[in-house]
Amino acid sequence: MHKPMSEASISLEPADDRLIYLDYASGTPVDPMVTAAMQPWLTGVGSAANASASHRIGQSAAAACVRASEQVAGLVNASPDEIVWTSGATESINLALLGAARFQSERGRHIVTCVTEHPAVLKTCDELRRQGYDVTVLPVDSGGLLSIDAFVAALQPDTVLASIMHVNNETGVIHDIDSIGMVCRDHGVLLHVDAAQSAGRLPLDVRAQGIDLLSLSAHKLYGPKGVGALCLNRQRSRRVEPLLFGGGQQRGLRPGTLPTHQVVGMGQACELGADHLSTEPAKVASLRDTLWMNLQQLDGIQLNGQADQRACHILNVSFSGVDGESLLLALEDLAVSAGAACTSDGAEPSAVLRSLGCSDTQASSAVRFSLGRHTSAEEVEQASMRVVGAVTRLRTIAEPLAQQT
Ligand SMILES: *Cc1c(COP(=O)(O)O)cnc(C)c1O
Repeated sequence: MHKPMSEASISLEPADDRLIYLDYASGTPVDPMVTAAMQPWLTGVGSAANASASHRIGQSAAAACVRASEQVAGLVNASPDEIVWTSGATESINLALLGAARFQSERGRHIVTCVTEHPAVLKTCDELRRQGYDVTVLPVDSGGLLSIDAFVAALQPDTVLASIMHVNNETGVIHDIDSIGMVCRDHGVLLHVDAAQSAGRLPLDVRAQGIDLLSLSAHKLYGPKGVGALCLNRQRSRRVEPLLFGGGQQRGLRPGTLPTHQVVGMGQACELGADHLSTEPAKVASLRDTLWMNLQQLDGIQLNGQADQRACHILNVSFSGVDGESLLLALEDLAVSAGAACTSDGAEPSAVLRSLGCSDTQASSAVRFSLGRHTSAEEVEQASMRVVGAVTRLRTIAEPLAQQT
């Protein structure tokens, strides 16, 4: 997270009209239809109802949660009883990796993942390593893509689990999950896919793609923060060990009272995501391409991530001679990210970009623009002008300094 300019500039109110929001990869606005669906569960007796209670309102909360499971399942071609509600993708990923590794530990203790994964995956793998598991972290090429041959070669007789993200959150690069799923199926390896960035943007089908465990987050998909889901493909009749213990909710797999409003919101968000899938990604991709075209008025810029293998919403650009964090500060009315929005320490150049072969300088001069459902052509034009202006200005300031040294 980049540092705000000064304490005085921090507002507790949502931002003003001048702000152009191009940070959909770190959080999407809640769709008004999602807010409307959540409303009955946020007021009056609806807000009291516990889905585990046997009275009428409790049962209607339970029914609303089942309906929401159907909506999530519908987006990924799962069945509703395969959906486990969590607090977000981070928790889903922890449950998937720790839970599956523990359940499989008699069979083997080797796990395969990829260097560009989200910290929720990489840090969980670090924890598994501390617990005696063996983790192979595969590299990517300069486009951010994983080699299927390298993936196959990394599998060992004791490999039980692989975790590969669908769409990278910094570059938007799409991994070939279909091929990885096929390899995993052939080798009897469980496949976990982090789909936080791809849900609602690319078709997902846990059956056809051979995905055993799929992590989702509502707030990347026009739903509320604080809720996510883990989809467990039961056709492969595998299980995961729970991480939490308590009441018997969700078959003991993730106990605790279901947050009806959050769950209903995520369900509605997934249904909308499925409805929009045939039209929205193309529209967003076209706005992203316009942004990239406009930015090419500038010299010395580089697109990060394989151009023809990207999801619709992310544009990651390095601006030579400009520090990404400084550019962000110069663009105070533009909400974009420098490097990874999800790591706490903004000072480090992005590890994802460095793994694509970017130098530290290139990585720290990168800005991630991410677009979505509510982005307009007008905002793209405005944002382009502001970025071109700011980069030009920063470069003119930097040049005489560079000549002096
Ligand atoms: C945002 C994100 C996560 C974490 O999701 P939360 O719901 O915020 O915990 C995990 N993986 C990817 C790819 C993400 O973009």
